[in-house]
Amino acid sequence: MSDGSLIERIRAFEAASRVLDPAPAERAALREPVLRYADAFLDALASAPAFVGGSDGGAGLLDEVIGEEGRGLDELLALLAEQVDRPGLNPASGGHLGYIPGGGLYLSALGDYLADVTNRYPGVSYASPGAARLEHQLVRWMADLAGYPATAGGTLLSGGSLANLSAMAAARDGRGVRARDIERTVVYLSAQTHHSVAKGLRVLGLGECVVRLVPLDPEWRMQADALAGMVEHDRRQGLRPWLVVASAGTTDTGAVDPLDALADVAAEHELWFHVDGAYGAFFLLTERGPELLRGIERSDSVVMDPHKTLFLPYGLGAVVARDRRALELAFRELGPYMQDAVVEAGAEPWPADLSPELTRPFRGLRLWLPLMAYGVAPFRAALEEKLALARYFHEEVQRLGFEAGPPPDLSVVTYRYVPQAMRSGGVAPAPEVVNRINRRILEDVNRDGRVFISSTTLNGVFTLRFACVTHRTHLETVDRLLASLAASAAAVERERALPAAAGR
Ligand SMILES: *Cc1c(COP(=O)(O)O)cnc(C)c1O
Repeated sequence: MSDGSLIERIRAFEAASRVLDPAPAERAALREPVLRYADAFLDALASAPAFVGGSDGGAGLLDEVIGEEGRGLDELLALLAEQVDRPGLNPASGGHLGYIPGGGLYLSALGDYLADVTNRYPGVSYASPGAARLEHQLVRWMADLAGYPATAGGTLLSGGSLANLSAMAAARDGRGVRARDIERTVVYLSAQTHHSVAKGLRVLGLGECVVRLVPLDPEWRMQADALAGMVEHDRRQGLRPWLVVASAGTTDTGAVDPLDALADVAAEHELWFHVDGAYGAFFLLTERGPELLRGIERSDSVVMDPHKTLFLPYGLGAVVARDRRALELAFRELGPYMQDAVVEAGAEPWPADLSPELTRPFRGLRLWLPLMAYGVAPFRAALEEKLALARYFHEEVQRLGFEAGPPPDLSVVTYRYVPQAMRSGGVAPAPEVVNRINRRILEDVNRDGRVFISSTTLNGVFTLRFACVTHRTHLETVDRLLASLAASAAAVERERALPAAAGR
């Protein structure tokens, strides 16, 4: 029998920690300022800057100590508004035209709220058969989108980086690549392959594989015949061609590699054919998508990022393997404390059997809720809108005197300004002068901040990028960017016309 003092201590601790489990009235008191904050944020979004520059943003947080005593929510939300939700990029804004992931569906936030409140355990079917089934169903929807057979399976991860890593682990084990083979094993990428692939290879211990960069055509697409030649050459050298990673929408230029032709090469040489569709795979929902991505159904694995082209808030990427057993080979493990949670023979594997993760958020709900509540149609329309806006921007920016890259496959356009006097027939453009002018245009647009753009370097040339991916980006947003570019280009021309600029 415990003495009374232990019971007293237990009671005291219980009372002191009670605040962690608020009663109904306390919950309402917590919810109300948070909802007010969220609504104010969303209501102001259309007129809020897409970018607030300066490197000292958030520095005020460092003065706020994490102390023993709690503080009022209003005070903390004010801190959040000033120190976190103002400085830097505002990816929730439709004016975010710089990078691929942005947006954030409100209904996903409500799904997250429910997932966090109920805290179901999706990794193990025994713990939450419903959560596991719901996630399997989402994966099946994506497998169908890719045109995969019934053998397919996959899992929901935090994003495209972990999804690519997981696909490569499946490729490794699906093809029996062992540690002692690594230095003779060859991976085929392109200079436009997303850097998460190289990172994933390193994390998997495959960083010492031979990496070949397959040449690109003038529209930044991997050349399938060049791949075939490289594989044959490597074979003759006694190397082991293993994996080709195609991009179904590169991040940099939005180009879609010729998937069907690459699938032919992969099939002939028994390469694992992985398609990184983190950005582009959901364009399969559009009218042009299936033709543009033809061959994706022949891949061994595919990655899709709902937090990009299904407009979800950050934290959801998916990997699907044509034969889910490859993912099981890579990831299935058990601990003795899991003995109650047996998988019956023939049953669907647990999500955790196909994933590097075990305990994780029930992230399926943030996708299931909007997909089921809205249906697929508005997603299709939003993606068609992005494709059309990219074509519109590609035409209009050239009307302003900018040079544009190839007509967009998807929703990224590359472009740069060449001053009038340097265009064809004029003075030959000096590369460093043109680069400087474009850097200045980027800074002008982002200093204004109503829209945010980014740049890249293509074959050594500083190039501006238009990446149109959020559900809040519409025609007015693109017109705002065009106006901002026109103003900056006009300023460039004015300054060049000044006598002081002669000789520049
Ligand atoms: C964004 C992206 C990734 C990485 O995905 P994260 O979700 O940012 O981890 C991989 N590949 C491509 C093509 C991408 O656009």
